[in-house]
Amino acid sequence: MRRPLLLVGLLLALVAADRPPGLGDVADIRVFDHDTHTRVVIELSREVDYEVNQLAQPPRLYVDIDGVWLDGPLAAVRERGGATPVRRVRGGQNTLTRARVVLELDGPERGYRVFHLRDPFRIVADIYRQGASAPPRREKPPGVDAFDTRPVQRIVVDAGHGGKDPGALGVDRLREKDVVLRISRELAAQLRRDGFEAVLTRDRDEFLTLQQRTQRANQLDADLFISVHANASPNRRTSGVETYLLDTRYDRQTARVAARENGTSVGELSELQKILASLRLGYNERFAARVAGSVHDALVSGLRKRYGSVEDLGVKRGPFLVLFQADMPAILVEVGFVSNRAEGKRLASRDFARTAAHSIARGVRAYRDQHARSLVAGR
Ligand SMILES: [Zn+2]
Repeated sequence: MRRPLLLVGLLLALVAADRPPGLGDVADIRVFDHDTHTRVVIELSREVDYEVNQLAQPPRLYVDIDGVWLDGPLAAVRERGGATPVRRVRGGQNTLTRARVVLELDGPERGYRVFHLRDPFRIVADIYRQGASAPPRREKPPGVDAFDTRPVQRIVVDAGHGGKDPGALGVDRLREKDVVLRISRELAAQLRRDGFEAVLTRDRDEFLTLQQRTQRANQLDADLFISVHANASPNRRTSGVETYLLDTRYDRQTARVAARENGTSVGELSELQKILASLRLGYNERFAARVAGSVHDALVSGLRKRYGSVEDLGVKRGPFLVLFQADMPAILVEVGFVSNRAEGKRLASRDFARTAAHSIARGVRAYRDQHARSLVAGR
C-alpha cells in the first residue's frame, strides 16, 4: 500500500506546482450511460494531442493529454446503480504539461473506442459493456476486412501541403496548397450537407507532416480518407484528372508523382516502405478501389459537364506515403494540372473549387450507397 501513497504524494506535489504558462484547460468531463456503453466526454479549451492506453491491474483506461492543465486532482465516483463499465473517473496533472484522465473499469479487456470531435475540441471515449462489443475496429488479422461491416460515416478530408510546403507551383504564381485548401473546405461542407461527419486535416495555411494527416484520421477511426492534390508536369500541355489508390506496383510516371507528393525522390522509397504499403493494402484495397472509381468518375463527369473537355487520366495506383499510413480506405485525388495554362486558370477559381467538391461528394455518396447495399446483402 506504500506505492499508491507515494504516487498520490507525487501527484499532489505536481498539482501544487506552479502552472506553466501557455497551457490549455480541461474545461469539462461528462459521463453518459447508454445500453451498450458508457461515454466519457473530455472537453478541452483547445486542440490537443493525446494518447490512450488500457491496463489490466486494476482494469483501467487512461488518456494522456498534452499541453493542458487539469485543476485537480479530480475524482468522480459513478452514482448510477447497476452495472456500468466505468466505475470511476479521475484525473490530474501527470507532468507539468500533460494531464491524465483515468477511467476505472469494471473488468479487464473492455472494448472501447476513443476519438475526438471539434467545436469545441473534445475527446470521446466509448467503453463497451461486458458482452457488448465495440464497433469493428482495424486490428484484424491480415486478409480480414474491417470495413465490410460498417457504414461510411466519418470522412477525413486532407488538403495537401500547406505552410512552408506550397506543393506544386503553376502558372500565374498558382500554388497547389491554396487550390486544394479551397476545394477541401468546399468538400467538407458538402459532405456535411450530405449527412456525413467530415473532418479537415487542415483548415488554414498550415504545415502538417504526412504522418500528422493520417494520424488524425486513424485517431478518429474514420471510415474514409480523401487527400486532395493538384498536379504539375514539366510538359505544360499535360492536363486532366487522375485518382490514386495505394499500390506497390507502379510505373515510372506514377513514381514521379508519388515522389513529388511525398516530398522525396523516387530512390528514397525504400523496400521497407513498399512492404509496409503492401501489408496495409491487404485490408482496404477492395474498398479503396471502389471509392477511387466512384469519386473519379463523378469528378470527371462533373467537370466535363461544367467545362466541356477534361482529360481523363484514369484511376492509378502509386506508392503514396500519405495513403499507406492510413488505416482506412484512402485515396488521393489530383484534380488538375497547375502547370497547364488553361487548367491552371480554372483551378484558381472558386467556381472550380465548388464544382470539383460537389462532384467528389457525389462520388462519395454513390460509394456510400453501394457500400450500404453490400452491408444489407451481407457481403
Ligand atoms: Zn500535392
